[in-house]
Amino acid sequence: MSHAFRIGYGEDIHRLGPNRKLILAGVEIPYELGLIGHSDADVVFHAVSDALLGALALGDIGKYFPPNDPRYEGYDSSLILKECYAMVQEKGYRLGNLDVALLCEKPHLSRYSLAMRQNLASLLSSPIEDIGLQLMTNEGLDAVGEGKAIRATAILLLERTQK
Ligand code: MG
Repeated sequence: MSHAFRIGYGEDIHRLGPNRKLILAGVEIPYELGLIGHSDADVVFHAVSDALLGALALGDIGKYFPPNDPRYEGYDSSLILKECYAMVQEKGYRLGNLDVALLCEKPHLSRYSLAMRQNLASLLSSPIEDIGLQLMTNEGLDAVGEGKAIRATAILLLERTQK
């Protein structure tokens, strides 16, 4: 790959349900509901992982971590993100910057914002200044607005590390 820069976009949505932990960007958040999924259903890590793969046209996380594979049941999604970033580095790129939008009606997440950014920065070997996180509601609209789901989008820039 010869481009100096590559842009990537990813998004994810998971339903909320009972008897599940709510884990967002690796932070366990106390709440009566959690995200339902085969893995730990961390929408932030999934959206960022897809953005990393998308930037280099490597496919999506479903290709590398199939949701019907028993190995990934209850899987810690930080490992998915780590592995995707390792693929990016192997191809000769590193993160320039990342911007995540997290759409969640409830619970209120602002007190967890720094911890979420710190987790992303650490997993992506980047300074926290390069990790943006926008917390927003969906204004009461649709499944996210009704508190039935949480959605995340991620956009990022990769920089080439090798000539
Ligand atoms: Mg997902």
